[in-house]
Amino acid sequence: MSSIINSDYLVIGSGIAGLSFALKVADHGSVNIISKRVAGEANTSYAQGGIASVTTDTDSIQKHIDDTLIAGAGLCHHDAVESALSNAPERIRDLVEWGVNFTRTDNGSFDLAREGGHSEYRVLHAADMTGAEIERALLEKARQHRNINIYENHLAIDIITEHQVLGNLQSAFNICFGAYVLSEKDNVVVPFQASYTVIATGGASRVFLHSTNPEIATGDGVAMAYRAGVRIANMEFVQFHPTSLYNPGKRSFLISEALRGFGGLLINGDHERFMPKYDARAELAPRDIVARGIDAEMKKRREDCVFLDMRHLDSAEVTSRFPNIYQHCKDALQIDISKDLIPVVPAAHYFCGGIMTSLNGQTSMQNLYALGEAAHTGLHGANRLASNSLMEGLAFSHNAAMKVINKRPRNFGSVIIPDWDESGIVDEKEWVLTRHNLKEIQNIMWGYVGIVRSKKQLNRAKRRVHVIYQEIEDYYKKSKISGDLVELRNLAAIAFLIITSALRRNESRGLHHMTDYPDKSDKYLKDTII
Ligand SMILES: Cc1cc2nc3c(=O)[nH]c(=O)nc-3n(C[C@H](O)[C@H](O)[C@H](O)COP(=O)(O)OP(=O)(O)OC[C@H]3O[C@@H](n4cnc5c(N)ncnc54)[C@H](O)[C@@H]3O)c2cc1C
Repeated sequence: MSSIINSDYLVIGSGIAGLSFALKVADHGSVNIISKRVAGEANTSYAQGGIASVTTDTDSIQKHIDDTLIAGAGLCHHDAVESALSNAPERIRDLVEWGVNFTRTDNGSFDLAREGGHSEYRVLHAADMTGAEIERALLEKARQHRNINIYENHLAIDIITEHQVLGNLQSAFNICFGAYVLSEKDNVVVPFQASYTVIATGGASRVFLHSTNPEIATGDGVAMAYRAGVRIANMEFVQFHPTSLYNPGKRSFLISEALRGFGGLLINGDHERFMPKYDARAELAPRDIVARGIDAEMKKRREDCVFLDMRHLDSAEVTSRFPNIYQHCKDALQIDISKDLIPVVPAAHYFCGGIMTSLNGQTSMQNLYALGEAAHTGLHGANRLASNSLMEGLAFSHNAAMKVINKRPRNFGSVIIPDWDESGIVDEKEWVLTRHNLKEIQNIMWGYVGIVRSKKQLNRAKRRVHVIYQEIEDYYKKSKISGDLVELRNLAAIAFLIITSALRRNESRGLHHMTDYPDKSDKYLKDTII
């Protein structure tokens, strides 16, 4: 029997979205943040390039909006773009106030980078470890706040809705009361109850074989919301980063596009520059175009990777500007990025789709909010402009916080949250077989649902994932709960959501490229909603 842990706000996830929301509401109520590993283990910590915001007179909000709309290929929600980007300079001020140290020029102004798809230099950065610096500062602030409790190694399994609770509910549908959470250390499931529950669990790129994301990116929040009947949108739009370090068998490592922004060139095995063949903007074209260019070049030449060439640039500057990438390449492959060619391949990087929200982060379920990469706000449309995602996490967390601190939660009557049913066993043999399903899902998704898709491939993927999904569900129902099992189950749900969404879009737009439907069609100028 585990006792219920109560708070005004339950925040699931400790990346930029969860932490910034928590910091904004903590003066108005108690906040429990749960995080499935150590708190700093989040996609946020791995962001290298930076965070986009207009901060100079030579730039304008309208230009940032225009660049975002162009990248989004017709599917951006104009109100979301406007809301996030026009308030971006204020959100940068929040970060600075919370103690984030951005890299500055000699005269003290922000040192700005330009990345693919941006018409201006507007990307603030902290060397090439922007996310780590943001995460450090926010976590430090959150730990100091007396109203915030952080529960590390606590994994949310499912949100609690009126389907689970007993009692005297006045309204009989669509309310969130918190989440069932697995405390991994004690191996018990604890109900966390809250007036407001916030899903800020990040992305799901680990559903693909090659991914730039850390292991936490298993789409738990989106899967939980889907199981609870919450609306999910645009899961077909997965961004593949064009350049992750090619180092087979090892964890992917991102080679930030800031290197291309700085003048790096992409060349093939014969040392020929190839991007100008695919797009006039060459290396600085939006990510989907660069990723497809690399994919096409590799397939045409049957090569396992292409190369990023920085050798023509000032060696001292390259080393000082990208210290993290320099060190990683040195350690992993013994190459000096200022003198040697860097082998690169595309890898799954970012989810534009997710849990559908309003501009205030409100989902289709009462008292349930979704923020950051787990959410679909409409900011990115069919393709994310580089460095807009950290800002998305900040901007909509602010909006959500402003909404909930001014709103008393509705009283739905008395509720009793039952304990988690802990019965079940672990059949080791069956678990080994079930676990193989993870690699199988990742291979299917990479092979059939990757950078370039077709109806035939998607249908093949659908059939295979369906069988695996059933196997995992059967095992889940009779087994004792574990973190690995929860994540595997969630990844199967994410695979299903991506394939189902992709099959509904018979066109090529932004990040969704179908060989049998190579053009955009006005018929699909709408979100894919599940
Ligand atoms: C290598 C890399 C480089 C990037 N570079 C940039 C960049 O330069 N600029 C930019 O704008 N964006 C960049 N991005 C994208 C950006 O980092 C993410 O989109 C953003 O950080 C997401 O923030 P978040 O708060 O939504 O999620 P995250 O930072 O991923 O945080 C999610 C949190 O939820 C927790 N969690 C997940 N599931 C559960 C569960 N079931 N129970 C409890 N806790 C859970 C995780 O442990 C984690 O703490 C990059 C991403 C990567 C991987």
